[in-house]
Amino acid sequence: EEPAADLAVPDGVGLLWAARLLGTPLRARVPGSVLVPQLAAASARRGDRWFLLGAAPGVAAEAGQVLATRYPGLKIVGAFAGDAAPAGDQETRAAIQAAGGVDVLLVAYGAPRQEAWMARHHDLGIPVMIGVGGVFNYLAGRSQLAPAWMRRAGLEWLYRLVTEPWRWRRQLALPQFAALVAAEVARRRIGLSG
Ligand code: UDP
Repeated sequence: EEPAADLAVPDGVGLLWAARLLGTPLRARVPGSVLVPQLAAASARRGDRWFLLGAAPGVAAEAGQVLATRYPGLKIVGAFAGDAAPAGDQETRAAIQAAGGVDVLLVAYGAPRQEAWMARHHDLGIPVMIGVGGVFNYLAGRSQLAPAWMRRAGLEWLYRLVTEPWRWRRQLALPQFAALVAAEVARRRIGLSG
């Protein structure tokens, strides 16, 4: 199934650059580390039921404890590492169904596995599913955010390249994306002058 979304937030600096170059500037980056705490505060007021899926064994549960402490009223009804591959689907669906009604499901398998996972399980009928990448690691204190000056300078990707060098292959997507944007800008310029 083709991944699709009702809402896609600009979580990387490349999207801000691209939007500006293509004439539709965006106000700010919305990384998972900003989105999840804000949503947790809103969910706490509503008493929403959250299920945390993904990351290494134990990390989702730890992140859940941190969220439950920080946002009284938020109901963490389940946490499960699971297996991102289809082989893990049955076990994961059973865990989610055992938790009862889930309002919000956070999926931390990194891109594009988490998007594929959500596309495969759309039929669970969970109102809100969000791919959150490394957010559980951050909440559980297993990884640090880049220093504020680096985030402000749009250099979070560089911080992550240095602190999580095993992700270098994934980060090849960044120059590829930049090349696609440059090609689109060039195409429009030629279109305008010709
Ligand atoms: N992960 C996982 N199973 C996988 C692949 C990744 O649980 O098969 C988890 C990993 O432990 C980490 C997250 O997915 O918590 C990947 O986060 P990352 O920040 O690398 O992804 P991004 O936010 O860049 O998409």
